Amino acid sequence: MQYEVKRHMTRESLIRDAEHWVVKIGSSVFLRDDRRVDRPTFASLMRDVDLLGRAGHRVTIVSSGAVALGRERLGWPDDLVDPDISGQQALAALGQSRLMEMYEDELAHYDRGAAQILFSRADLDDRERFLNARRALSRAHDFGAIPIINENDSVATEELRFGDNDRLAAMTCGVEQADVLVILSDVPGILERTPEQGEGLFGNRISRIAVDDPKLDDVAGPTDSDIGTGGMVSKVIAARIAARVGAPTIIAPGKRTGILETLREGRDVGTLIEPAEGDELAGKEVWLGAGARPVGCIRCDEGAREALLHQGASLLPSGVTEVEGEFAEGSVVGIEDESGERLGHGVSVYSADDIRAIAGRQSDDIEETIGERLLDCVVHRDSMVILD
Ligand code: GLU
Repeated sequence: MQYEVKRHMTRESLIRDAEHWVVKIGSSVFLRDDRRVDRPTFASLMRDVDLLGRAGHRVTIVSSGAVALGRERLGWPDDLVDPDISGQQALAALGQSRLMEMYEDELAHYDRGAAQILFSRADLDDRERFLNARRALSRAHDFGAIPIINENDSVATEELRFGDNDRLAAMTCGVEQADVLVILSDVPGILERTPEQGEGLFGNRISRIAVDDPKLDDVAGPTDSDIGTGGMVSKVIAARIAARVGAPTIIAPGKRTGILETLREGRDVGTLIEPAEGDELAGKEVWLGAGARPVGCIRCDEGAREALLHQGASLLPSGVTEVEGEFAEGSVVGIEDESGERLGHGVSVYSADDIRAIAGRQSDDIEETIGERLLDCVVHRDSMVILD
């Protein structure tokens, strides 16, 4: 099944030209039903990763499995099927070292090291840390190592999580300016879902689809397994985040032998989700669009909404009606219209209190009101991403 796509590139050229791959490996890919590590699948994947490297591609792996391997280490005790937060954190700590051991052992066959990087959500909220991560990852690639990324589960708090590794992988595309995101799972790809098929029933695999195709909302099906988190909805969200930084996403069956090689050959496997033309962010926008998480919100009136959406304008104090939350100058904030619709987000020039003080006023009044005038606007256009 082929929905209309905006970019008329063949799969082959799209993948061949993709220098940098981010490959997300879900726990269900390298665990078998009997909950043992599926060594042949894992070995095949690492062989593929090495082949990609030899063919001149850079590969970064975002790997789940810490919590599952922690459970495995303890012999899958019944009381840890659904552990509380600290239980999960301890399982992740136990399993993460096991996970890295697996990568280290398998990649050693190809004389490659496994470079572990554990991200916390806050690492990507801060532009300096975001750029630091980019530099460290780039050096790891220079060393011929394969970066293995996971969320820093053992210290993550509920409010400050990526949520799932699909999203983390998409954000990694922003950090690394990657060219393609491959999400390996235990499903063949996105399956069609029509009302006639009824709840829980699916049709054919969708081969290619544009990220802005409304049909994508209907096809976001149920979770693929209960071993990992996520499910198809989170994969579609991840594809949307990756598309913002210009990367197509392929959702593909991870247990299929030689899957990465098969994809590199441009064969029709899985579902390719293509970014819409002209949607790509650049420079600082990448961090804003794929990394940073807003810590507060500025609401604006109808005039400002029009100017932001259609005239490429900065957000001026005169258009601000309300400020939500407490934040310092330089924080990433959401921008909403009066009905609460999210228009975009950007870096706030002033603190929440200062913006409250100058809300509704002219830019000329800024200095008189808060004692200094850094810029005429509260969010500058160059530090803003408008959502469509
Ligand atoms: N970070 C989790 C783990 O390693 C997995 C999260 C996910 O699969 O989305 O177990």
